[in-house]
Amino acid sequence: MHDLVIRNALLVDGLGSPPRRGDLAVKDGKILEVGKTSLSAKETVDADGLALMPGIIDNHTHYDAQITWDPWASPSPALGVTTAVIGNCGFTIAPCRPRDRDLVMKNLTQVEGMSLAVLRAGVRWDFETVPQYLDLLERQGSALNVAVFVGHSSIRTYVMGEAATERAATEAEIGSMRNLILEAMKAGAVGFSTSTSPAHNGEGGKPMPSRLADEKELHALVGCLREAGRGVFMLTKGGHTRIDFLEALAAASARPVVIAALLHSSTNPDAVFHDLQEIEEANRRGHRLVGAVSCCPLAMEFTLHSPYVFEGLEAWQPALPLKGEQFKSKLKEKPFRDALRAEIARPAHFRLFNGEWQLVQVIQSARGELEQKSIAQLARAAGQDPLDFMLDTALDENLDTVYSALLLNSDEAAVGRMLKHPCSLVSLSDAGAHLTFFNDAGFGLHLLGHWVRELGVLTLADAVWRLTGQPAALFGVKERGALKVGHHADLLLFDPATVDRGPKRRVFDLPGGNPRLTTGAVGVHGVWVNGVRVAGKDGAVPRERLPGRLLREFAVN
Ligand SMILES: [Zn+2]
Repeated sequence: MHDLVIRNALLVDGLGSPPRRGDLAVKDGKILEVGKTSLSAKETVDADGLALMPGIIDNHTHYDAQITWDPWASPSPALGVTTAVIGNCGFTIAPCRPRDRDLVMKNLTQVEGMSLAVLRAGVRWDFETVPQYLDLLERQGSALNVAVFVGHSSIRTYVMGEAATERAATEAEIGSMRNLILEAMKAGAVGFSTSTSPAHNGEGGKPMPSRLADEKELHALVGCLREAGRGVFMLTKGGHTRIDFLEALAAASARPVVIAALLHSSTNPDAVFHDLQEIEEANRRGHRLVGAVSCCPLAMEFTLHSPYVFEGLEAWQPALPLKGEQFKSKLKEKPFRDALRAEIARPAHFRLFNGEWQLVQVIQSARGELEQKSIAQLARAAGQDPLDFMLDTALDENLDTVYSALLLNSDEAAVGRMLKHPCSLVSLSDAGAHLTFFNDAGFGLHLLGHWVRELGVLTLADAVWRLTGQPAALFGVKERGALKVGHHADLLLFDPATVDRGPKRRVFDLPGGNPRLTTGAVGVHGVWVNGVRVAGKDGAVPRERLPGRLLREFAVN
Protein backbone atom coordinates (compact mmCIF):
# COMPACT_ATOMS: atom_id res chain seq x y z
CA MET A 1 0.00 0.00 0.00
CA HIS A 2 1.39 3.36 -1.07
CA ASP A 3 0.97 6.52 0.96
CA LEU A 4 -0.05 8.71 -1.95
CA VAL A 5 -0.89 8.20 -5.60
CA ILE A 6 -1.46 11.08 -7.99
CA ARG A 7 -3.18 9.81 -11.15
CA ASN A 8 -3.63 11.23 -14.65
CA ALA A 9 -1.18 14.09 -14.26
CA LEU A 10 0.86 15.87 -16.89
CA LEU A 11 4.28 14.90 -15.54
CA VAL A 12 6.93 17.60 -16.00
CA ASP A 13 10.07 15.94 -14.72
CA GLY A 14 12.38 18.87 -13.91
CA LEU A 15 15.07 17.53 -16.22
CA GLY A 16 13.75 19.20 -19.36
CA SER A 17 12.02 16.13 -20.87
CA PRO A 18 8.80 16.69 -22.82
CA PRO A 19 5.78 16.50 -20.46
CA ARG A 20 3.82 13.22 -20.57
CA ARG A 21 0.65 11.88 -18.98
CA GLY A 22 1.04 9.45 -16.12
CA ASP A 23 0.80 8.63 -12.44
CA LEU A 24 3.17 9.08 -9.56
CA ALA A 25 3.29 7.03 -6.37
CA VAL A 26 4.83 7.97 -3.02
CA LYS A 27 5.82 5.82 -0.06
CA ASP A 28 7.69 6.91 3.07
CA GLY A 29 8.29 10.38 1.70
CA LYS A 30 9.94 9.17 -1.50
CA ILE A 31 8.86 8.70 -5.09
CA LEU A 32 8.31 4.97 -5.61
CA GLU A 33 6.90 4.85 -9.14
CA VAL A 34 6.58 7.31 -12.01
CA GLY A 35 4.56 6.67 -15.15
CA LYS A 36 2.01 3.99 -14.37
CA THR A 37 0.90 2.49 -11.13
CA SER A 38 -1.88 0.04 -10.45
CA LEU A 39 -1.40 -0.01 -6.71
CA SER A 40 -3.81 1.64 -4.33
CA ALA A 41 -2.83 4.18 -1.72
CA LYS A 42 -4.03 5.72 1.52
CA GLU A 43 -4.60 8.93 -0.41
CA THR A 44 -5.40 9.12 -4.13
CA VAL A 45 -5.54 12.37 -6.06
CA ASP A 46 -7.07 12.40 -9.53
CA ALA A 47 -5.09 15.15 -11.25
CA ASP A 48 -7.37 15.07 -14.29
CA GLY A 49 -4.65 16.50 -16.54
CA LEU A 50 -3.21 19.06 -14.12
CA ALA A 51 0.57 19.40 -14.26
CA LEU A 52 2.78 17.76 -11.65
CA MET A 53 6.35 18.96 -11.21
CA PRO A 54 9.05 18.75 -8.54
CA GLY A 55 8.65 21.41 -5.85
CA ILE A 56 10.35 24.72 -6.58
CA ILE A 57 13.83 25.30 -5.19
CA ASP A 58 14.03 28.97 -4.28
CA ASN A 59 17.76 29.64 -4.35
CA HIS A 60 17.67 33.27 -3.17
CA THR A 61 15.81 33.79 0.09
CA HIS A 62 16.43 35.61 3.36
CA TYR A 63 14.40 33.57 5.84
CA ASP A 64 17.29 33.39 8.35
CA ALA A 65 15.57 35.55 10.97
CA GLN A 66 11.90 34.83 10.15
CA ILE A 67 12.29 31.05 10.20
CA THR A 68 13.25 31.16 13.89
CA TRP A 69 9.74 32.44 14.76
CA ASP A 70 7.87 31.21 11.68
CA PRO A 71 8.96 27.69 10.71
CA TRP A 72 6.30 27.87 7.97
CA ALA A 73 8.48 30.36 6.11
CA SER A 74 5.26 32.01 5.04
CA PRO A 75 4.25 32.48 2.27
CA SER A 76 6.69 30.31 0.27
CA PRO A 77 5.29 26.74 0.66
CA ALA A 78 1.82 27.78 -0.51
CA LEU A 79 3.53 29.25 -3.59
CA GLY A 80 5.01 25.89 -4.56
CA VAL A 81 8.42 26.30 -2.94
CA THR A 82 9.58 23.11 -1.21
CA THR A 83 13.25 24.00 -0.67
CA ALA A 84 14.64 27.41 0.26
CA VAL A 85 18.27 28.45 0.28
CA ILE A 86 18.66 31.01 3.07
CA GLY A 87 21.51 33.36 4.01
CA ASN A 88 22.00 34.95 0.60
CA CYS A 89 24.08 38.11 0.18
CA GLY A 90 25.91 37.31 3.42
CA PHE A 91 23.01 38.53 5.58
CA THR A 92 22.83 35.77 8.15
CA ILE A 93 22.22 35.86 11.88
CA ALA A 94 24.82 33.23 12.80
CA PRO A 95 27.42 33.23 14.11
CA CYS A 96 26.55 35.86 16.68
CA ARG A 97 27.78 36.53 20.22
CA PRO A 98 25.06 37.51 22.69
CA ARG A 99 26.56 41.00 23.01
CA ASP A 100 26.42 41.54 19.21
CA ARG A 101 22.76 40.59 18.74
CA ASP A 102 21.53 44.17 18.52
CA LEU A 103 24.34 45.05 16.13
CA VAL A 104 23.44 42.19 13.79
CA MET A 105 19.72 43.00 13.96
CA LYS A 106 20.39 46.68 13.26
CA ASN A 107 22.38 45.68 10.19
CA LEU A 108 19.41 43.65 9.00
CA THR A 109 16.66 46.22 9.52
CA GLN A 110 17.41 48.29 6.47
CA VAL A 111 18.15 45.49 4.02
CA GLU A 112 15.42 43.16 5.27
CA GLY A 113 12.73 45.83 5.50
CA MET A 114 11.87 44.75 9.05
CA SER A 115 11.92 47.02 12.03
CA LEU A 116 14.30 46.48 14.92
CA ALA A 117 11.22 45.98 17.13
CA VAL A 118 10.08 43.06 14.95
CA LEU A 119 13.49 41.44 15.00
CA ARG A 120 13.93 41.97 18.75
CA ALA A 121 10.52 40.44 19.44
CA GLY A 122 10.87 37.67 16.91
CA VAL A 123 14.35 36.16 16.64
CA ARG A 124 14.95 33.10 18.79
CA TRP A 125 18.56 33.45 19.81
CA ASP A 126 19.16 29.85 20.91
CA PHE A 127 22.57 29.70 19.23
CA GLU A 128 25.90 31.40 18.92
CA THR A 129 27.79 29.48 16.22
CA VAL A 130 26.68 28.38 12.74
CA PRO A 131 26.63 24.67 13.77
CA GLN A 132 24.37 25.62 16.70
CA TYR A 133 22.10 27.61 14.36
CA LEU A 134 21.83 24.56 12.08
CA ASP A 135 21.00 22.40 15.11
CA LEU A 136 18.27 24.86 16.13
CA LEU A 137 16.67 24.72 12.67
CA GLU A 138 16.85 20.94 12.69
CA ARG A 139 15.32 20.68 16.17
CA GLN A 140 12.58 23.15 15.45
CA GLY A 141 11.68 21.79 12.00
CA SER A 142 10.24 23.72 9.08
CA ALA A 143 7.49 23.37 6.53
CA LEU A 144 9.98 23.30 3.65
CA ASN A 145 13.51 21.99 3.25
CA VAL A 146 16.20 24.49 4.08
CA ALA A 147 19.81 24.91 2.93
CA VAL A 148 21.91 27.51 4.71
CA PHE A 149 24.71 29.75 3.46
CA VAL A 150 27.42 30.88 5.85
CA GLY A 151 27.28 34.65 5.46
CA HIS A 152 30.20 37.02 5.20
CA SER A 153 28.70 39.94 7.11
CA SER A 154 27.96 37.83 10.19
CA ILE A 155 31.36 36.18 10.37
CA ARG A 156 32.98 39.58 9.88
CA THR A 157 31.02 41.05 12.79
CA TYR A 158 31.79 37.96 14.89
CA VAL A 159 35.52 38.41 14.34
CA MET A 160 35.85 42.20 14.15
CA GLY A 161 32.92 43.58 16.21
CA GLU A 162 32.00 47.18 15.36
CA ALA A 163 35.11 47.54 13.21
CA ALA A 164 33.52 45.16 10.68
CA THR A 165 31.67 48.10 9.12
CA GLU A 166 34.70 50.38 9.22
CA ARG A 167 37.88 48.85 7.81
CA ALA A 168 39.71 46.08 5.98
CA ALA A 169 40.54 42.94 7.97
CA THR A 170 44.02 42.02 9.19
CA GLU A 171 45.79 38.78 8.27
CA ALA A 172 44.84 37.33 11.69
CA GLU A 173 41.20 38.35 11.34
CA ILE A 174 41.01 36.77 7.89
CA GLY A 175 42.44 33.60 9.44
CA SER A 176 39.69 33.59 12.09
CA MET A 177 37.00 34.12 9.45
CA ARG A 178 38.40 31.21 7.45
CA ASN A 179 38.12 28.94 10.48
CA LEU A 180 34.47 29.92 10.94
CA ILE A 181 33.66 29.18 7.29
CA LEU A 182 35.41 25.80 7.41
CA GLU A 183 33.56 24.93 10.63
CA ALA A 184 30.23 25.92 9.03
CA MET A 185 30.93 23.93 5.87
CA LYS A 186 31.78 20.90 7.97
CA ALA A 187 28.48 21.30 9.84
CA GLY A 188 26.49 21.41 6.61
CA ALA A 189 26.37 24.91 5.11
CA VAL A 190 25.57 24.95 1.40
CA GLY A 191 28.25 27.52 0.61
CA PHE A 192 29.52 31.01 1.33
CA SER A 193 27.69 34.24 0.49
CA THR A 194 28.61 37.91 0.38
CA SER A 195 27.68 41.31 -1.02
CA THR A 196 29.67 44.19 -2.45
CA SER A 197 26.54 46.13 -3.41
CA PRO A 198 26.25 49.80 -2.39
CA ALA A 199 22.48 49.26 -2.01
CA HIS A 200 23.23 47.10 1.04
CA ASN A 201 23.33 49.25 4.15
CA GLY A 202 22.64 48.67 7.79
CA GLU A 203 20.99 51.01 10.27
CA GLY A 204 22.09 54.60 10.06
CA GLY A 205 23.49 54.03 6.59
CA LYS A 206 26.50 52.01 7.72
CA PRO A 207 27.67 49.73 4.93
CA MET A 208 27.01 46.03 5.42
CA PRO A 209 30.28 44.59 6.83
CA SER A 210 31.14 42.52 3.74
CA ARG A 211 31.40 45.71 1.70
CA LEU A 212 34.59 46.60 3.58
CA ALA A 213 36.37 43.44 2.44
CA ASP A 214 39.22 43.84 -0.04
CA GLU A 215 39.99 41.39 -2.83
CA LYS A 216 42.62 39.63 -0.73
CA GLU A 217 40.03 38.84 1.94
CA LEU A 218 37.53 37.53 -0.62
CA HIS A 219 40.21 35.34 -2.20
CA ALA A 220 41.14 33.84 1.14
CA LEU A 221 37.54 33.22 2.23
CA VAL A 222 36.29 31.71 -1.03
CA GLY A 223 39.39 29.50 -0.87
CA CYS A 224 37.70 27.69 2.05
CA LEU A 225 35.30 26.11 -0.43
CA ARG A 226 38.23 24.56 -2.24
CA GLU A 227 39.37 23.04 1.06
CA ALA A 228 35.84 21.88 1.83
CA GLY A 229 35.73 20.33 -1.63
CA ARG A 230 32.18 21.52 -2.22
CA GLY A 231 29.82 24.45 -1.87
CA VAL A 232 28.64 27.43 -3.87
CA PHE A 233 29.99 30.96 -3.64
CA MET A 234 27.22 33.56 -4.09
CA LEU A 235 27.71 37.26 -4.30
CA THR A 236 25.52 40.29 -4.90
CA LYS A 237 27.86 42.56 -6.70
CA GLY A 238 28.28 46.28 -6.79
CA GLY A 239 29.10 47.95 -10.10
CA HIS A 240 32.81 47.99 -9.19
CA THR A 241 33.07 44.20 -8.82
CA ARG A 242 34.46 42.83 -12.07
CA ILE A 243 33.41 39.53 -13.60
CA ASP A 244 37.05 38.66 -14.34
CA PHE A 245 37.83 38.93 -10.62
CA LEU A 246 34.93 36.56 -9.87
CA GLU A 247 36.20 34.22 -12.55
CA ALA A 248 39.57 34.21 -10.80
CA LEU A 249 37.79 33.21 -7.57
CA ALA A 250 35.94 30.43 -9.41
CA ALA A 251 39.24 29.24 -10.89
CA ALA A 252 41.14 29.33 -7.58
CA SER A 253 38.37 27.60 -5.61
CA ALA A 254 37.20 25.27 -8.40
CA ARG A 255 33.66 26.01 -7.15
CA PRO A 256 30.57 27.47 -8.86
CA VAL A 257 29.95 31.20 -8.46
CA VAL A 258 26.42 32.65 -8.46
CA ILE A 259 26.49 36.31 -9.46
CA ALA A 260 23.53 38.45 -8.37
CA ALA A 261 21.66 40.63 -9.07
CA LEU A 262 21.42 40.84 -12.85
CA LEU A 263 18.40 43.08 -13.28
CA HIS A 264 17.65 44.96 -16.47
CA SER A 265 17.74 48.75 -16.45
CA SER A 266 16.02 50.58 -19.28
CA THR A 267 18.44 53.48 -18.90
CA ASN A 268 21.50 51.24 -19.29
CA PRO A 269 19.99 48.42 -21.31
CA ASP A 270 23.18 46.64 -22.34
CA ALA A 271 24.88 46.35 -18.96
CA VAL A 272 23.38 43.00 -17.89
CA PHE A 273 24.00 41.51 -21.31
CA HIS A 274 27.68 42.46 -21.06
CA ASP A 275 27.80 40.70 -17.71
CA LEU A 276 26.06 37.61 -19.12
CA GLN A 277 28.42 37.55 -22.07
CA GLU A 278 31.47 37.70 -19.80
CA ILE A 279 29.94 34.94 -17.69
CA GLU A 280 29.44 32.83 -20.81
CA GLU A 281 33.05 33.36 -21.88
CA ALA A 282 34.24 32.32 -18.42
CA ASN A 283 32.21 29.11 -18.79
CA ARG A 284 33.89 28.44 -22.10
CA ARG A 285 37.19 28.59 -20.23
CA GLY A 286 35.87 25.90 -17.91
CA HIS A 287 34.84 28.08 -14.94
CA ARG A 288 31.39 27.70 -13.45
CA LEU A 289 29.74 31.11 -13.22
CA VAL A 290 25.99 31.75 -13.41
CA GLY A 291 24.11 35.03 -13.50
CA ALA A 292 21.20 35.26 -11.08
CA VAL A 293 18.30 36.89 -12.94
CA SER A 294 14.72 37.62 -11.95
CA CYS A 295 11.50 36.90 -13.84
CA CYS A 296 9.66 39.61 -11.92
CA PRO A 297 9.63 43.34 -12.55
CA LEU A 298 11.28 44.99 -9.56
CA ALA A 299 8.52 47.12 -8.11
CA MET A 300 8.82 48.55 -4.62
CA GLU A 301 6.43 50.24 -2.28
CA PHE A 302 8.02 52.73 0.07
CA THR A 303 7.71 55.93 2.06
CA LEU A 304 10.46 58.47 2.54
CA HIS A 305 10.83 57.26 6.13
CA SER A 306 12.79 54.37 4.65
CA PRO A 307 13.41 54.97 0.93
CA TYR A 308 15.42 51.87 -0.05
CA VAL A 309 15.10 53.10 -3.63
CA PHE A 310 17.39 56.08 -2.96
CA GLU A 311 19.64 54.73 -0.23
CA GLY A 312 22.26 53.36 -2.61
CA LEU A 313 22.82 56.79 -4.16
CA GLU A 314 26.05 58.55 -3.23
CA ALA A 315 24.19 61.86 -2.93
CA TRP A 316 21.72 60.31 -0.44
CA GLN A 317 24.47 59.33 2.00
CA PRO A 318 24.36 62.63 4.01
CA ALA A 319 20.68 61.89 4.80
CA LEU A 320 21.13 58.21 5.72
CA PRO A 321 22.21 58.53 9.36
CA LEU A 322 19.73 61.33 10.14
CA LYS A 323 16.42 60.93 11.92
CA GLY A 324 13.34 63.03 12.67
CA GLU A 325 13.57 66.78 12.14
CA GLN A 326 17.24 66.62 11.08
CA PHE A 327 16.35 64.18 8.32
CA LYS A 328 13.46 66.37 7.19
CA SER A 329 15.56 69.51 7.02
CA LYS A 330 18.18 67.65 4.98
CA LEU A 331 15.45 66.74 2.48
CA LYS A 332 14.59 70.45 2.19
CA GLU A 333 18.14 71.58 1.34
CA LYS A 334 18.67 72.74 -2.19
CA PRO A 335 22.31 71.57 -2.48
CA PHE A 336 21.25 68.08 -1.32
CA ARG A 337 18.51 67.97 -3.95
CA ASP A 338 20.81 69.32 -6.67
CA ALA A 339 23.41 66.66 -5.93
CA LEU A 340 20.70 63.96 -6.16
CA ARG A 341 19.43 65.32 -9.46
CA ALA A 342 22.96 65.41 -10.87
CA GLU A 343 23.73 61.85 -9.78
CA ILE A 344 20.46 60.43 -11.12
CA ALA A 345 21.13 62.12 -14.47
CA ARG A 346 24.58 60.51 -14.78
CA PRO A 347 24.68 57.09 -16.47
CA ALA A 348 25.47 54.20 -14.11
CA HIS A 349 26.39 50.56 -14.64
CA PHE A 350 23.84 49.43 -12.08
CA ARG A 351 21.52 51.60 -10.06
CA LEU A 352 18.08 50.90 -8.61
CA PHE A 353 16.55 54.25 -9.55
CA ASN A 354 17.43 55.98 -12.80
CA GLY A 355 15.16 59.01 -12.90
CA GLU A 356 12.19 57.27 -14.52
CA TRP A 357 9.67 59.48 -12.73
CA GLN A 358 6.87 58.22 -14.96
CA LEU A 359 7.34 54.84 -13.23
CA VAL A 360 7.03 56.24 -9.69
CA GLN A 361 3.43 56.45 -8.52
CA VAL A 362 1.69 57.87 -5.48
CA ILE A 363 -0.18 54.99 -3.84
CA GLN A 364 -1.44 56.67 -0.68
CA SER A 365 -1.59 60.36 0.13
CA ALA A 366 -3.48 62.71 2.41
CA ARG A 367 -4.42 64.39 -0.86
CA GLY A 368 -6.46 61.61 -2.44
CA GLU A 369 -6.38 63.28 -5.86
CA LEU A 370 -2.66 62.45 -6.17
CA GLU A 371 -3.19 58.70 -5.84
CA GLN A 372 -2.56 56.38 -8.79
CA LYS A 373 -0.78 59.16 -10.68
CA SER A 374 2.90 59.24 -11.57
CA ILE A 375 5.34 61.77 -10.16
CA ALA A 376 6.22 62.80 -13.74
CA GLN A 377 2.57 63.56 -14.49
CA LEU A 378 1.89 65.33 -11.17
CA ALA A 379 5.07 67.43 -11.32
CA ARG A 380 4.31 68.50 -14.88
CA ALA A 381 0.81 69.57 -13.87
CA ALA A 382 2.24 71.51 -10.92
CA GLY A 383 4.99 73.07 -13.07
CA GLN A 384 7.62 71.64 -10.70
CA ASP A 385 10.75 69.52 -10.94
CA PRO A 386 9.80 65.87 -10.16
CA LEU A 387 12.26 65.41 -7.28
CA ASP A 388 11.15 68.69 -5.69
CA PHE A 389 7.53 67.71 -6.15
CA MET A 390 8.04 64.33 -4.52
CA LEU A 391 10.04 65.59 -1.55
CA ASP A 392 7.78 68.62 -0.95
CA THR A 393 4.60 66.53 -1.01
CA ALA A 394 6.09 63.98 1.35
CA LEU A 395 7.36 66.68 3.74
CA ASP A 396 3.84 68.19 3.82
CA GLU A 397 2.50 64.78 4.88
CA ASN A 398 5.05 64.00 7.59
CA LEU A 399 6.75 61.60 5.09
CA ASP A 400 3.78 59.23 5.27
CA THR A 401 3.00 59.39 1.54
CA VAL A 402 3.27 55.88 0.08
CA TYR A 403 4.89 55.47 -3.33
CA SER A 404 5.44 52.56 -5.63
CA ALA A 405 8.30 52.53 -8.09
CA LEU A 406 8.78 50.20 -11.03
CA LEU A 407 12.53 50.18 -10.90
CA LEU A 408 14.06 47.49 -13.03
CA ASN A 409 13.24 44.48 -15.18
CA SER A 410 10.17 46.04 -16.80
CA ASP A 411 11.35 45.59 -20.42
CA GLU A 412 9.88 42.18 -21.24
CA ALA A 413 11.84 41.60 -24.44
CA ALA A 414 15.08 42.11 -22.54
CA VAL A 415 14.02 40.06 -19.52
CA GLY A 416 12.92 37.24 -21.84
CA ARG A 417 16.42 37.14 -23.36
CA MET A 418 17.94 37.02 -19.88
CA LEU A 419 15.65 34.18 -18.77
CA LYS A 420 16.60 32.09 -21.80
CA HIS A 421 20.32 32.76 -21.52
CA PRO A 422 22.36 29.55 -21.17
CA CYS A 423 24.27 30.97 -18.18
CA SER A 424 21.38 32.44 -16.21
CA LEU A 425 19.73 31.14 -13.06
CA VAL A 426 16.15 32.17 -12.26
CA SER A 427 16.53 33.67 -8.81
CA LEU A 428 16.23 36.79 -6.69
CA SER A 429 12.85 36.25 -5.00
CA ASP A 430 14.45 37.74 -1.86
CA ALA A 431 11.67 35.97 0.08
CA GLY A 432 11.90 36.87 3.75
CA ALA A 433 13.51 40.25 3.06
CA HIS A 434 12.38 43.72 2.00
CA LEU A 435 9.11 42.72 3.64
CA THR A 436 7.45 46.11 3.45
CA PHE A 437 8.79 46.97 -0.02
CA PHE A 438 7.97 44.01 -2.25
CA ASN A 439 7.28 40.29 -2.22
CA ASP A 440 8.39 38.04 -5.07
CA ALA A 441 8.14 34.75 -3.15
CA GLY A 442 5.72 33.64 -5.89
CA PHE A 443 8.34 34.07 -8.63
CA GLY A 444 8.04 30.43 -9.70
CA LEU A 445 4.29 30.66 -10.29
CA HIS A 446 4.87 33.92 -12.17
CA LEU A 447 7.43 32.16 -14.40
CA LEU A 448 4.92 29.39 -15.18
CA GLY A 449 1.97 31.72 -15.72
CA HIS A 450 3.46 34.78 -17.35
CA TRP A 451 6.58 33.60 -19.17
CA VAL A 452 5.32 30.17 -20.20
CA ARG A 453 1.58 30.55 -20.73
CA GLU A 454 1.05 34.25 -21.48
CA LEU A 455 4.21 35.08 -23.41
CA GLY A 456 5.45 31.68 -24.59
CA VAL A 457 9.05 32.76 -23.96
CA LEU A 458 9.93 29.49 -22.21
CA THR A 459 8.47 26.03 -22.73
CA LEU A 460 6.86 24.41 -19.71
CA ALA A 461 9.63 21.79 -19.61
CA ASP A 462 12.40 24.41 -19.71
CA ALA A 463 10.78 26.65 -17.08
CA VAL A 464 10.28 23.72 -14.71
CA TRP A 465 13.92 22.67 -15.17
CA ARG A 466 15.01 26.22 -14.34
CA LEU A 467 12.97 26.11 -11.10
CA THR A 468 14.01 22.62 -10.02
CA GLY A 469 16.61 20.45 -11.77
CA GLN A 470 18.98 23.28 -12.59
CA PRO A 471 19.29 24.74 -9.05
CA ALA A 472 19.36 21.21 -7.56
CA ALA A 473 22.40 20.35 -9.68
CA LEU A 474 24.14 23.68 -9.08
CA PHE A 475 23.70 23.64 -5.30
CA GLY A 476 24.32 19.91 -4.97
CA VAL A 477 20.84 19.29 -3.50
CA LYS A 478 20.63 15.51 -3.38
CA GLU A 479 17.69 13.49 -4.67
CA ARG A 480 15.45 16.47 -5.19
CA GLY A 481 14.51 18.62 -8.17
CA ALA A 482 13.28 15.79 -10.43
CA LEU A 483 10.34 13.39 -10.67
CA LYS A 484 12.54 10.33 -10.39
CA VAL A 485 12.16 7.06 -8.56
CA GLY A 486 14.08 7.28 -5.29
CA HIS A 487 13.85 11.07 -5.07
CA HIS A 488 12.18 12.76 -2.11
CA ALA A 489 8.54 13.50 -2.83
CA ASP A 490 8.69 17.30 -3.09
CA LEU A 491 5.82 18.00 -5.47
CA LEU A 492 3.76 20.82 -6.96
CA LEU A 493 0.42 20.10 -8.63
CA PHE A 494 -0.94 23.03 -10.63
CA ASP A 495 -3.18 24.06 -13.49
CA PRO A 496 -1.04 25.35 -16.38
CA ALA A 497 -4.11 27.18 -17.75
CA THR A 498 -4.49 29.42 -14.69
CA VAL A 499 -1.29 29.25 -12.63
CA ASP A 500 -0.11 32.65 -11.38
CA ARG A 501 0.78 34.52 -8.24
CA GLY A 502 -2.00 36.50 -6.64
CA PRO A 503 -2.02 40.22 -5.92
CA LYS A 504 0.11 41.63 -3.12
CA ARG A 505 -1.63 42.27 0.15
CA ARG A 506 -0.53 44.09 3.28
CA VAL A 507 -0.95 41.93 6.40
CA PHE A 508 -0.07 42.68 10.00
CA ASP A 509 1.26 39.36 11.27
CA LEU A 510 4.89 40.05 12.07
CA PRO A 511 5.88 39.89 15.76
CA GLY A 512 4.23 42.84 17.49
CA GLY A 513 1.57 43.08 14.78
CA ASN A 514 3.86 44.78 12.28
CA PRO A 515 3.05 44.87 8.57
CA ARG A 516 4.49 43.03 5.61
CA LEU A 517 3.45 42.36 2.04
CA THR A 518 2.30 38.87 1.18
CA THR A 519 0.89 37.13 -1.84
CA GLY A 520 -1.24 34.05 -2.48
CA ALA A 521 -1.24 31.40 -5.19
CA VAL A 522 -3.52 31.01 -8.19
CA GLY A 523 -4.00 27.65 -9.89
CA VAL A 524 -2.08 25.63 -7.28
CA HIS A 525 -3.87 22.40 -6.32
CA GLY A 526 -1.33 20.82 -4.02
CA VAL A 527 2.17 21.12 -2.60
CA TRP A 528 3.93 18.21 -0.88
CA VAL A 529 7.20 18.29 1.05
CA ASN A 530 8.77 14.88 1.63
CA GLY A 531 5.42 13.31 0.77
CA VAL A 532 3.40 15.44 3.20
CA ARG A 533 0.88 17.91 1.85
CA VAL A 534 1.69 21.45 3.06
CA ALA A 535 -0.66 23.38 0.78
CA GLY A 536 -3.86 22.74 -1.16
CA LYS A 537 -6.24 24.78 -3.26
CA ASP A 538 -6.88 27.22 -0.43
CA GLY A 539 -3.31 27.84 0.64
CA ALA A 540 -1.21 26.40 3.44
CA VAL A 541 -2.52 23.31 5.25
CA PRO A 542 -1.76 23.48 8.99
CA ARG A 543 0.34 20.53 10.20
CA GLU A 544 1.47 19.65 13.63
CA ARG A 545 4.57 17.87 12.41
CA LEU A 546 6.55 19.96 9.98
CA PRO A 547 7.81 17.81 7.09
CA GLY A 548 10.75 19.93 5.88
CA ARG A 549 14.34 18.87 6.47
CA LEU A 550 17.45 20.83 7.15
CA LEU A 551 19.74 19.88 4.26
CA ARG A 552 23.28 19.29 5.52
CA GLU A 553 24.68 16.83 3.02
CA PHE A 554 25.25 17.93 -0.52
CA ALA A 555 26.46 16.25 -3.66
CA VAL A 556 30.07 16.96 -4.57
CA ASN A 557 29.63 18.39 -8.03
ZN1 LIG B 1 19.41 39.07 -1.34
